Amino acid sequence: MKTIELSVHGIQVTFDTDNPGGGSVVCNPNLYDLCPHCSSKDCFFQCGQSPGDDRGAVVSRFQFNGAVNGILSMILAHAVSGIDIDTPAYEEGIDTALQAAGENL
Ligand SMILES: [Zn+2]
Repeated sequence: MKTIELSVHGIQVTFDTDNPGGGSVVCNPNLYDLCPHCSSKDCFFQCGQSPGDDRGAVVSRFQFNGAVNGILSMILAHAVSGIDIDTPAYEEGIDTALQAAGENL
């Protein structure tokens, strides 16, 4: 197993170079836009308090969290394929992608 810790958003990538499909990525939980009621990143009108929430805001939150998951998956894939993900330029790219997701979703 190999673990790479990045200096942005508490991102930590763990993978096995002999079994590249079994990797994982963790990050600072507040990187996600959490449900204000149950604090889950995956809540889509599912908790008891959320049914009355503004639909557009909830959809936007859900889409943003999906984008974050996609970006994290891409980071894992890049690490497994041998790209140096712990470089300042790569980490700046992560930050830019996350900011763009926040501004566009
Ligand atoms: Zn909720």
